[in-house]
Amino acid sequence: MAWLKKLMAGRYGIDQLSIALLITYVPLSLAAQVTRLKILDLFALALIAVCYLRIFSRNIAKRREENGKFLVRWYPIKNWISSKLYRLKDSKEHRYYKCPNCKQAVRVPKGKGAIRITCPKCKTGFLKST
Ligand SMILES: [Zn+2]
Repeated sequence: MAWLKKLMAGRYGIDQLSIALLITYVPLSLAAQVTRLKILDLFALALIAVCYLRIFSRNIAKRREENGKFLVRWYPIKNWISSKLYRLKDSKEHRYYKCPNCKQAVRVPKGKGAIRITCPKCKTGFLKST
């Protein structure tokens, strides 16, 4: 592993954007193989080339800036996916409603019959069956 340490000394290395490029490369490359579209194959190759150029780059400040811009766009998407997955996992025990006044999501336990829900944000009450 000493050779790897020596190789990567002063270089940027792997970050979230590089991982995203690698993850995007795999289905694109498979799609290019299945469809035999040369342009798709070239695009996938360009992605992997950019990924390796970033990993071995010595311009660390520029790569950090690029990764920061990527993360600003990626985190809202990641949080949205995480919340949907959590709701799916939680759907056996709870139901989710939106407040009719402020659209705040409200989580209530399932199997309690018709209940009056009070929005924690705007205190509006509404009736729902759980
Ligand atoms: Zn509300």
